[in-house]
Amino acid sequence: MKILVINAGSSSLKYQLIDMDTEAVLAKGLCERIGIEGSNLQHTNVAKDEKTKIEKPMKDHGDAIQMVIDALVDKEIGVIGSMDEIGAVGHRVVHGAEEFADSCMITEAVMKALEKCTPLAPLHNPPNIIGIEACKKIMPNVPMVGVFDTAFHQTMPAKAFMYALPYECYDKDRIRKYGFHGTSHKYVSKKAAEVLGKDASELKIVTCHLGNGSSISAVDGGKCVDTSMGFTPLDGVPMGTRTGSMDPAVVTYLINQKGMSAKEVDSLMNKESGVAGVSGVSSDFRDLTAASKEGNERAQLALDMFTYQVKKYIGSYAAAMGGIDAVVFTAGVGENDAATRAAIVSGLDFMGIKIDADKNSVRGTVDISADDAKVKTLVIPTNEELMIAIDTKSLVEG
Ligand code: AMP
Repeated sequence: MKILVINAGSSSLKYQLIDMDTEAVLAKGLCERIGIEGSNLQHTNVAKDEKTKIEKPMKDHGDAIQMVIDALVDKEIGVIGSMDEIGAVGHRVVHGAEEFADSCMITEAVMKALEKCTPLAPLHNPPNIIGIEACKKIMPNVPMVGVFDTAFHQTMPAKAFMYALPYECYDKDRIRKYGFHGTSHKYVSKKAAEVLGKDASELKIVTCHLGNGSSISAVDGGKCVDTSMGFTPLDGVPMGTRTGSMDPAVVTYLINQKGMSAKEVDSLMNKESGVAGVSGVSSDFRDLTAASKEGNERAQLALDMFTYQVKKYIGSYAAAMGGIDAVVFTAGVGENDAATRAAIVSGLDFMGIKIDADKNSVRGTVDISADDAKVKTLVIPTNEELMIAIDTKSLVEG
């Protein structure tokens, strides 16, 4: 079965066509500037390793999906003979709230439930819904599946997801910890069990998705029991431009004492903070490392703040689970930045976490644990698209 994976943003749409017999990506690409002047499609035929850029107006996501299909079936740049070869479509949806504890087939009832989740993710869910609707119009007979960033975290117990606000805030307004990057945490925790040759039900794993946005999860017996992101993706460790956790009274202080508007504080915390805000250099860890090597103390401080917080999550989640068998690093920083990985695990030998410097410098899926480490430390490249396709296939095949 061939599965089309769609990740629709407000003015962009990413796609991959995956052959599930081999799990190989046949084609992938990106529509940019949908509804804006200069729209274009960047398409890659993976087998031929050929990239094509087509500039053509796309007034909406419907036009974008049509262009994707046209590219996929095109005689020159395409990878399939006709649209009929697409067995199912898997859609990434950012917020499934408490309505969706797992991926699901998209029905009319599901579309209504999705609308209900929109106030919780006003920037992300509307384009996801528009993407689904556009696909349904063009491929009315192809089964569609929704895969939610929040779903994997729905197994968290109430003691982990509740905030100590008046109970009505949860009951009426659904204010609680939801967690994000769930598809990535699910994929790498499953893969870790495979790499270790164990059943996921036997393992206590801390998964560290460290990229421009970062989150850490505690996965006990294959189920998420806690995660660092919260009601929104602002919570947890410091990120590229996001604060991560801090005393919430800072918000009221900035508003009441510094005269900032709620909107300005929101922008400050999401776009001007994190390692970029602290360093004044960049949100990119490569730039921070280079600046620190040249003696920039604030760049080093930003890196130290990041690695210190990730280390604290690993320790606290080991305590929460009553043990730890493996730490997994994934995403842009987790997969590529050996020095940051080493800084995070340094000093954790007391709990059995110890890496081998030579193994840590290798790329790909690797066990970087020292030979005498009690706890395994793994680097596993994340693959959210494949996880979406796997869930889609399993639901479609019933
Ligand atoms: P992601 O959000 O997962 O795409 O990760 C993007 C981030 O990964 C970038 O902002 C960089 O900070 C980081 N990154 C990517 N490659 C490297 C690398 N080779 N070394 C250090 N950081 C990297």
